[in-house]
Amino acid sequence: MVTNQTLDEWMDEATDRFGGIQYAMFVCPKCGNRASYLDFINRNLDEQLVYQECIGRYDKSITNCDFSAGGILGTMGQGRFISLPEARTIEVFNFA
Ligand SMILES: [Zn+2]
Repeated sequence: MVTNQTLDEWMDEATDRFGGIQYAMFVCPKCGNRASYLDFINRNLDEQLVYQECIGRYDKSITNCDFSAGGILGTMGQGRFISLPEARTIEVFNFA
């Protein structure tokens, strides 16, 4: 069951569960690796990638996985859809 949320609902859930989106953990639907904004920042990567791309795309020492929710499979039904204020919807990894 894929969750549909507005950006505000998504941010509120992150705050409730993690104390803020910047502390949230996201799980890759393919390999199950969990990553946070900090994991991306610490590798000089754009932290906004954390909710759509497996960190394995950038650091094979963590997981040999190149999954991206931007691909044709989306999150394979394991993620959620976030509707943005500009009437665009993105598919993102679930919280871990
Ligand atoms: Zn992965």
